Amino acid sequence: MEKIVSLSRRRGFAYPGSDIYGGFSGFWDYGPLGVELKNNIKQLWWRMFVQERDDMCGLDAAIIMNPRAWEASGHVEGFADPLASGKMFNTMLRTAVGAGEESTTSYLRPETAGGIFVNFKNIIDSVHPKLPFGIAQIGKAFRNEIAPRDFVFRAREFEQMEIEYFVRPSEWEQAFEEWRENVHAFNDAIGIPRSSVHELEVAPEDRAHYSKRTIDFEFDFPFGRKELYGLAYRTDFDLKAHMESSGVNLEYLDDSTSDKFIPHVIEPSFGVDRTILALLSSVYTEDELGGETRTYLKFNKRVAPIKAAVFPLLKNKPQLVEKAHEVYSSLKLLVPSIQFDDNGNIGKRYRRQDEIGTPVCITIDFDTLENDTVTLRDRDTGEQVRESIAGLISVI
Ligand code: ATP
Repeated sequence: MEKIVSLSRRRGFAYPGSDIYGGFSGFWDYGPLGVELKNNIKQLWWRMFVQERDDMCGLDAAIIMNPRAWEASGHVEGFADPLASGKMFNTMLRTAVGAGEESTTSYLRPETAGGIFVNFKNIIDSVHPKLPFGIAQIGKAFRNEIAPRDFVFRAREFEQMEIEYFVRPSEWEQAFEEWRENVHAFNDAIGIPRSSVHELEVAPEDRAHYSKRTIDFEFDFPFGRKELYGLAYRTDFDLKAHMESSGVNLEYLDDSTSDKFIPHVIEPSFGVDRTILALLSSVYTEDELGGETRTYLKFNKRVAPIKAAVFPLLKNKPQLVEKAHEVYSSLKLLVPSIQFDDNGNIGKRYRRQDEIGTPVCITIDFDTLENDTVTLRDRDTGEQVRESIAGLISVI
């Protein structure tokens, strides 16, 4: 864990929040590589669960909602953890909206799900989805965690990728099973091995107040086996509660049967930050290469923050540097997340790219000037082959 945290900081994945003020417990800032990694993970998730499916749509709701919504959902009453004294402490972060006496206390959302439920009717009325269908959202969530710890694992500000998948009441078990498999499929896609993820059937007394069945997907983190994602059957708890509290009818009208009812919901909930930590733990590798120990991150190409690096063999040979810039610029048009590096010797440049998980390095040498081929070096094996400049895009 120490090695991962130190590499993250040294190479620009994540820094302690407000670092120059000594940090602020539970808050983290993602650096240049961290933000690329995070974006890749979110884009992959969005593509897999929203864009590639016909039964899903997206949403980007406000972080702060009318506080009545959090009363209805049971969070004002029940979203609490026990303090050392045994007293319950509500972990929603409070904020004051509006000026002076007119101000209202509201909350920074503790989960993105709330915004989905309050928009259920808007989505039904505007895009007319048919059951079963899901609404997906990615965004920040906040919890006033009593004891933030373990790097980005337990933070006070974090990001979630959540789906509320609405079904007919009789269909919940089938949907639950489908999403159970989808959670594993997502891990496969980003490169978290199935052998490190374990399902835990959560006992009734440990489930959230809204859930009738929950599976936690636990990951073998360096500090122990802990929750990575959750999958919950929330029944019709939320829509029913919002319908009662708002007085707005949130029933679904089934065209085929003319039945009116409140849909039930299956909720897969993914934490972005825990995904990043699980991924870093999965890909962090130390080995021996050319008689030296080295550290590298074995990211797959889809999530790697930098897809390739281009080097001139020698910094002081203008022809090589010029050609390297030319190759770099033409590749960058199609693959924006690549780097140019002419600092230090080639061995050092390889080590730097290994440490941030760049899958391939491309070196422009004297042969390149003769025949338009380059040295292509593979991160995991260290093997080098000649490749034509024209073939580089498909390799990357
Ligand atoms: P835990 O038991 O570890 O506190 P939880 O059961 O309260 O987690 P959920 O309410 O199920 O978590 O939240 C859904 C997901 O959001 C979690 O699986 C996790 O990935 C993420 N998450 C929750 N709390 C945090 C946090 N404090 N920091 C980072 N990610 C979080």
